[in-house]
Formats: sequence, C-alpha cells, structure tokens
Amino acid sequence: MTPKRILIWYRNDLRLHDHQPLSSALNTQAQIIPVYCFDPRQFTQTSYGFPKTGAFRTQFLLESVADLRQSFRKLGSDLILRLGKPEIIIPELVKILNIDAVYYYQEATSEELTIEQNLKTALAALGVVVKSYWGATLYSITDLPFSIPQLPEIFTQFRKQVESQSIINSLFTSPKQLPHLPEIETGNLPNIQDLGLGKPVFDSRSVMKFQGGETAGLDRLKNYIWEQDCLKNYKETRNGMLGENYSSKFSPWLALGCLSPRLIYNTVQTYEKERVKNDSTYWLIFELLWRDYFKFIALKHGNKIFYPQGLQGISIPWKYNPKQFEQWQRGITGFPLVDANMRELLTTGFMSNRGRQNVASFLTKNLGINWQRGAEWFESLLIDYDVCSNWGNWNYNAGVGNDARGFRYFNILKQSQDYDPNGDYIKHWLPELKDLPPSKVHQPWKLLPVEQKRFRVILGVDYPQPMVDLEQSVKVNQLIYETAVRKNLG
Ligand SMILES: Cc1cc2nc3c(=O)[nH]c(=O)nc-3n(C[C@H](O)[C@H](O)[C@H](O)COP(=O)(O)OP(=O)(O)OC[C@H]3O[C@@H](n4cnc5c(N)ncnc54)[C@H](O)[C@@H]3O)c2cc1C
Repeated sequence: MTPKRILIWYRNDLRLHDHQPLSSALNTQAQIIPVYCFDPRQFTQTSYGFPKTGAFRTQFLLESVADLRQSFRKLGSDLILRLGKPEIIIPELVKILNIDAVYYYQEATSEELTIEQNLKTALAALGVVVKSYWGATLYSITDLPFSIPQLPEIFTQFRKQVESQSIINSLFTSPKQLPHLPEIETGNLPNIQDLGLGKPVFDSRSVMKFQGGETAGLDRLKNYIWEQDCLKNYKETRNGMLGENYSSKFSPWLALGCLSPRLIYNTVQTYEKERVKNDSTYWLIFELLWRDYFKFIALKHGNKIFYPQGLQGISIPWKYNPKQFEQWQRGITGFPLVDANMRELLTTGFMSNRGRQNVASFLTKNLGINWQRGAEWFESLLIDYDVCSNWGNWNYNAGVGNDARGFRYFNILKQSQDYDPNGDYIKHWLPELKDLPPSKVHQPWKLLPVEQKRFRVILGVDYPQPMVDLEQSVKVNQLIYETAVRKNLG
C-alpha cells in the first residue's frame, strides 16, 4: 500500500538539502509531516554532573530548529515541535493524524539507538511502516568495501580502501514546494530557559559567531570556500588556533546535520574544476574521512567507546584529583597553551583541533586523569559535539583507541612554540600575559622576579605557577600506561 501520510522524524539532520528520508517520502507523493522533539533527556546531566547539552550547543540547536521550521514554512509546510520523548510523542501523532509511515535517519550510538528501538516497538503495535536510512557520512554504509565487523582499526587502511574501492553518492534533490500540514497544533519553539539553561553570552574574542541552521551553514560553506577563497590554503592553515578562517569551522553545522558532508564534497569538486585542485582541496575531504571513520568505529565497537578501557580494553589505573581537574577545566594550569585553549572552550564552546589534541594529551599524559571526564566536559561545552567524533578522538588521544603507536603525548611547550610562535593566541585568551615577549610567553614560570615586575605578571598572583613538571609527569604516566598494556597482553 502506498502511504498517504509520512512522518519525518528529525534529529541530527536539520536540513532540507541532501535528505534521503524527505526525498524518499516525497517520491511516494504522500503528505509529509515533519517533526522535531526536544528530548528532555538531552538536557539532564552527564555522569560526572555537567550539563549534558550546555548553553552554547543548546542555543545553536534552537537556532537550527527555528531555521528548519522557517524553511518548511517557506515551502508551504511547517515543522511540528514538541517537548518530550520521541518514542511517546511520535506514536501519539501517528494516531491523531492517521500516519501510515515514519521515516528517519538512524544514529550510531546506544542512547539514540535505544530510543529508535523503543519507537519501533511502539509503532509496530500501531501497524505503521518504519524506514530508517543511513546518511551521516560521506560514504554510505551500504557502499563500504567491508562489513562493519571487518572495518579496519587503522584509519589509513580504512581511508585507502574506501578511496580506492567505494564511491560517494550524488546528492538527493531538495524540495521546491511541500504540501500543507493537516490541521494540528504545530507547537512553539521553546526558549533556552525552558530547557533549564541561561542564554550564553557572546564573547567578541570568539573565532566567529556560530549561527545555527542550514541557512547559516550554507552561508559559511559559500563564504569559506568561494568568497574568502580559503580552501586553496587549507592544508597549511588548518593547524591554526586564532581567527575565523584557519579551518573551515563546518563542524557545528555538520554535527546537527545542517550541512551534509556530501554537499561539502560536491562543493570541493566544483571548486577544483573552477579554481584550483591541490593538496589543500583534497585535505578537507581527508578530514571528513576521519569523521566517517569515527562514526563507523562507533558502530563497530558499540559501547566500548565510552568505557574507561576504551576500544583496546586497556585497564589503566586513571587518577582523579578534583583540584587538578578543576584547574584544567578553568584554564589555570600554569601552561599558557593549555590555559588559553581551555578558557576559549569555556567562554565560547569552540576549540581548534590543535588545541583539543594538546589539552586532551595534557589531561591524560601529564595529569593521568581519567579521559572520560575530559570527554564529558567537551560533551557539555562543545558547540560541535558529535558523539562519535568526540568519544572516538578521546579514545585515540588517551591511548586506548585506534592509535597503533602506544603512549603518544604532545610536548606542550614545543607545540606552543611551533603553533603560536609569537604568542598571539595565548595573549588573546590570557590578557595577563600580554606584555611578555615571544621568547618568554610560552614558559612564564621561568620569569625572574625582576622580569615579573617589568612584564606586570606576578607568578602565583596574576598567573598560576605550573601545576606539574612537564617531563616528570609524562614519565610517571608513561610507566603506568606501559605497565597496564603489558598486563593486558599477558
Ligand atoms: C579530543 C577531541 C575531541 C573532539 N571532539 C569533536 C566533536 O565532538 N565534534 C567534532 O565535530 N569534532 C571533534 N573533534 C575533531 C576536530 O577537532 C574538529 O572536528 C575540528 O576542530 C572542527 O573544526 P573545523 O570544522 O574548523 O575543522 P576542519 O579542520 O575544517 O575539518 C573539516 C571537518 O572535518 C572533520 N574533522 C576534522 N578533524 C577531525 C577529527 N580529528 N575527527 C573527526 N572529524 C574531524 C570535522 O567534521 C570538521 O568540521 C575532536 C578532536 C579531539 C582531538
């Protein structure tokens, strides 16, 4: 039987372009009922007591949903909004509106999959057709040259195999017009206070103003690639930390599905034809493959990505020192590179990839603190939080994930000198160090009392003394790690 009414359940796919459930539903000529549920479970606390969805991401989400609603309205339809659990709300709507089928994009991790399962059970009892699609990645799950259990553990092997043996599908067409909704209360967009949070304050030092939604995401794509013409240098600039254009900043829109990765791929292809094709243009796709890889890794390993032993199952006796953890969270460790990055995260909800790698390394390899706490802190604050990318990268950085190289750490001092030679980034976030010359800004702990006076930064008063010895702390934690790995093997 051809369905007459199809409900499209929106989650992390907040767009009209390249949307397979929507496109498939439209092909049936059915009436489309798009629905988004603000799930109260997303606004509770993480296991360590941080807001599960902090204010930056919540604001971005609200803007994204508002934008999607606006887009539906422009095409003659609307987006139904509800505050509540989808597995309860959707079956209710199905009954009220006589819906024949429910289409949605499936997710990869347990919380989301449990909800999907509960919804399917409730809908089966109502005799409704349920269709789920895979769409979060560049390469479709059905086009992979291996099954998920056979997915290579090493990124390079994954990349080489998909690049040589698979294809990236073309885009699904965006609708031009949509049928009206039947008579129904469409519901109001909640405000951030309804979700238990305060409105985040925009800090002018932020890398950019992240505006949620497909419209703003498409604008950023156009601006970064075509107007600012940044793609041609991406490989050289991507390790930066300061400013709007060192990297694409597509991640928040990708995380909520406001941008489809395949649209980015298509845009890069057009750019390569019309402007230039070089290592940089390839490198953006290379980075998107990391994103694909972590999604498939999460599918393969299930809940292991959340366990302290990680994917590799290494039982490291992680420490927890509440004071030290708080120093890391607040950016008062005494190491300027770490502090600048942690304060940026706290103040804006964003941090560069270079910064994320360094602060994750510092937490796990210098402080030896349980990486799960770091991952939850990122989950709470990041505007671009993506469950697979976050937990996958934390596994990787903590040495319990897909890094074949064992105990790897970032030399914080060298990283600071290499990636911020003049200390511009450090000074941007740590104004107390603004008078220090480049030769002193990376290691203020070496300042003599007379220099502290001259540069107006008294250690222990204006800026903290370093909380650990960089070299010593790494040695201690390396021994702990390697002992755990040996035990694991033996
Ligand atoms: C500890 C840690 C936690 C992280 N948590 C997240 C997260 O929650 N959400 C998230 O999107 N990224 C996460 N990343 C990956 C990466 O830091 C961000 O994707 C990137 O900084 C976003 O900025 P951008 O869009 O300008 O990146 P660009 O350099 O412009 O890269 C383009 C896109 O490629 C993808 N990408 C790049 N690097 C990675 C990577 N290492 N892993 C997965 N995808 C990547 C992203 O989708 C990104 O938007 C994390 C990295 C680390 C080390």
